[in-house]
Amino acid sequence: MTATAFVGGRILTMAAGPEPEVVVVESTRIAAVGDRSILEAWPTATVRDLAGGTLCPGFIDAHNHLSIAALHPRWRDVAGAASLEGLLDEIRRQAVAEPDTAWIRVCGWNEGPIAAEHQGVHPTRTDLDGLGLDRPILVAHYSLHQGVVCSSGLDELGIGRTTAAPQGGEIVRDAAGLPTGLLIERAWGGAHGESLAAYAEPERWGEHIVARAHQLLSQGITAVHDAACPPAAEAVYRRLATAGVLPISVVMMPHAPALLHNDLGPRLGGPPTGEGDQQLRVGAAKLFADGGTSIALDVTMQGKVLRFGTTMDDMAEHLLAASRRGFRVAVHAMGNVGVQRTIEAFAAAASESPDDEHRFRIEHAGIASPAQARELAALGAVAVVQPGFVDHVGRQSGGITFDEHAWLPFRDLAEAGVTLAASSDDPCAPFPPLWCAARGADRTTSEGLRFEAEQAVDFEAWLRAYTSGSALAGGQEGERGAIVPGLRADLVILEGALVPTPPPRVVETWVAGVPVFRTEAPG
Ligand SMILES: [Zn+2]
Repeated sequence: MTATAFVGGRILTMAAGPEPEVVVVESTRIAAVGDRSILEAWPTATVRDLAGGTLCPGFIDAHNHLSIAALHPRWRDVAGAASLEGLLDEIRRQAVAEPDTAWIRVCGWNEGPIAAEHQGVHPTRTDLDGLGLDRPILVAHYSLHQGVVCSSGLDELGIGRTTAAPQGGEIVRDAAGLPTGLLIERAWGGAHGESLAAYAEPERWGEHIVARAHQLLSQGITAVHDAACPPAAEAVYRRLATAGVLPISVVMMPHAPALLHNDLGPRLGGPPTGEGDQQLRVGAAKLFADGGTSIALDVTMQGKVLRFGTTMDDMAEHLLAASRRGFRVAVHAMGNVGVQRTIEAFAAAASESPDDEHRFRIEHAGIASPAQARELAALGAVAVVQPGFVDHVGRQSGGITFDEHAWLPFRDLAEAGVTLAASSDDPCAPFPPLWCAARGADRTTSEGLRFEAEQAVDFEAWLRAYTSGSALAGGQEGERGAIVPGLRADLVILEGALVPTPPPRVVETWVAGVPVFRTEAPG
């Protein structure tokens, strides 16, 4: 059996002990780690010179919506539309590109530039109706937490003047009480679901997932946790895994059929957390404590109370139900109210079964206090955070700071003893881990704005968060996330210093002992 010996660079094992000089990979596993003397036991090993680069475990993106991100190439991305007219143009192009879908869907809507043109007013159903297209239209927000729907779409969804919004959602209305088309949080779930129906054909959906997975591999990502996997997406992943064509490892986090809902229904009777193998495994059940754009806040700013946002009031109940059925749980909590409710729900589950290893996951923990960080640490929770959010959250925060709560409180969490798992939230934010890690390390947006710099975490700590931290979040610490004999040889080779500016780059990615991506040699 051929073996490969990696030498000649730094080796970040993400495990205790000194940095080794040599790593030997045999078949799909790490076979040996140590100083040069171990090479004597592997005289026929192929030597791979790292040429001064760094060898790391493959990156694990612990919160990546791969199954939905995979479909994005099918939709015009309107992120760059600087005006309403530009947005409408993109919708026209989408209608032509996909003439047979029941709904016309565009993605990546970012209220910024268009709202600026319209003094903060979002596009409305009337704007979309003016296109005169033959099908319902959905303009999906980049966050996947809201969207704008045209009149025929609202009709199809049964949303009218007297329709009550679901708990955890908002149907925005004009002065006359008519829906404007803007549907927020749970109120947009129906439009999301209807507009996806045309893309749910398993074979083609699977092809998109495979294509997206290859892009992830090119950035060093060898495993993802799909952070909201409805039953239909689970079925597609199972198909790919059975056929042996899933290029990266996936942890599927079961989610209700309707986006942002917490009732997993019959899924709780299916395979629980941990079922599966190293290529495809069931992860924690995914629940929501608050909104994603309508985050639930209760904070003070220079003593003034600021309280708003959307909570998902059924989270605690469904968390206990999932926990009782043998699922670990992961809760989306962006605002400090969401974080607090999550802490309380974790505590309730822990007291109900104190002997279980719960490995609670809090997703985002976007705005939290040091006291909340300590409570999460006491519960043994892992915080699945997004260093890349420094870019867009920093831009949107407008420099506002709170008295007791920090935005993206990475340092507070780490100092409290909470393990950080790193992730992108792709497609809601860019996925390249080294770019994200750089944002989390320098706390600087693309425009150069420093954003709560005291919450910075250093670059190498982000590499740990992307490997051993994420493995812990996924219950995979026995199989990946470190360079330790016996673990899977998912590896990444980096070139350049481990600093945020400029960050290193991925030159090679290995999956299960096989190189699957290599950059073109320069020049
Ligand atoms: Zn997400």
